[in-house]
Amino acid sequence: MVQLTKATRRHTKDHNSRLVLQTIYEYAEVSRAELARLTQLTRTTVSDAVAELIGQGLVEEVGLGRAAIGRTPTLLRVAEDGRQMVVVNISSQELQGAVVNLRGALHGRATRPLTDRRGGAVLDELYPFVTELVERASGPLLGIGISAPGLIDMGRGIVQQTVSFHWQDLPLGNLLQSRFGLPVYLARDSHAIALANYLFGPHEPTTNLIAIKVGWGLGAGIVLNGQLFFGDDYGAGEIGHLVVDEGDLPCECGKRGCLETLASTRAIVGRARSLAATDPASLLNRYAATPEAIDLEAVLKAFLAGDAAVRQVVAEAGRYLGIAVAMLTGTFNIRRIVISGRIAPFGELIRERILSELQRRVLPNLADAIELYVEAQGPDTILLGGAALVLTSELGLVRMIRRSAGPTL
Ligand SMILES: [Zn+2]
Repeated sequence: MVQLTKATRRHTKDHNSRLVLQTIYEYAEVSRAELARLTQLTRTTVSDAVAELIGQGLVEEVGLGRAAIGRTPTLLRVAEDGRQMVVVNISSQELQGAVVNLRGALHGRATRPLTDRRGGAVLDELYPFVTELVERASGPLLGIGISAPGLIDMGRGIVQQTVSFHWQDLPLGNLLQSRFGLPVYLARDSHAIALANYLFGPHEPTTNLIAIKVGWGLGAGIVLNGQLFFGDDYGAGEIGHLVVDEGDLPCECGKRGCLETLASTRAIVGRARSLAATDPASLLNRYAATPEAIDLEAVLKAFLAGDAAVRQVVAEAGRYLGIAVAMLTGTFNIRRIVISGRIAPFGELIRERILSELQRRVLPNLADAIELYVEAQGPDTILLGGAALVLTSELGLVRMIRRSAGPTL
C-alpha cells in the first residue's frame, strides 16, 4: 500500500512537471505566475516543478518579463541544448545524420554512402556512423531517432521488412539501444517526413496532411487530427507496393505492377533507359555514354531541354501518382498533400498530371479542394521527423513545436 501511494505521488509529480515543461515549450518564454494560470496548478506546485526542471537542465531562467504592478517576474524558457538527439535516416543509397537540439536546430550533419546494400553490411556502416554523431553532441543526449524504408513496428523497434536491404524482423531498436545505452525510436521514412511536414512545414498549419515521398522508392505518411496515423500494423500509407497495373513490371517485393515500379524515380530512369536504347536519336543519349548509364540527372537534362518522349515518361509517372492521390483523397478527404523527394525537379508537370487525374477520378468538390505541393525537401526534413519522434516519446513535446518559434523547412 505504501509503495502504491509513493508510486501515485511520483506519477502525479511527473505529470505536473511534464505539463509545466510542455507549457514553457509552447509559450517560448513565460513566468512562473503565468505558468500557474496556464496549467491551473498551484504556484507551489509550479515552483517545485520548475526547480526540478532547472535541476535537470531542461529549463533555464532568462531576462525579466513585464508586470503591470509589483515585482517584474523572471521568465523561463526551455534550455535549447539542455538535451540533444542523434538522428539518422537510412536511405537506399546513403546514411544521413545530424545532432538536433530541443528546438529542432540541426548541427553536425553527416552522410555516409552505402556501397553494399546487403543487410549486415548496412549495419556495419550504421554503428560507426551513430558513434560519430554521438561524439559530435555538445550536450546530454535524450535519445536516438532513426528513419528507414520499409515496414517498421514502431512499438517494438523492429524493422519487419525492408525490401531494399533484405531486412526481415530486425530488432534494430534493441541493437542500437544496447550498444549506445540510449532510448531509440524507429519509424518508416515516409512517416517521419509526414510528421516533419506537420510540425515544421512552410505552409499554413493544418490538422490533417498526407506526405508522399517519391524517390527511388515511394511511400506516404498520414497525419490525422494532429497525430501520425500508423495503421494497425504500422503499414498506413504503404502505397509503394500497391499493385496499380497488373501484369506489368516486376517489383523488388516479388509482385508485378506496384506503384513503385511505375511512378518512382527508379521507374522514370528505367523507362528513359529503354527509350534511349530503342531510339538512338533520343536527346538522352547526349547526356550519358550508354543507355544503361542514364541516371536521374541525365533524364532531368533531357526533360529541361524539352525532349517530348522524356516529358511523356515523366507525365506517365505523374498519371500513376494521380491514381494514388485520387485513392487517398477518396479514402481520407485530406486537402493538404505534399509530394517531396527526388521527383521534385519535374514538379510542374507532375503536379499538372496529378490534378488532372484527380478531376477524372474523384468527386469535383473533393478534387477542387486539394492543396497539392510538389517540393524538393532536403534531408533536413526527414531528420527533423526523427527528432520529433524522440521529443514526443521522451518529453511529450511534439504537438507544441508548431506554436513556438521552431525551425521552418
Ligand atoms: Zn512491390
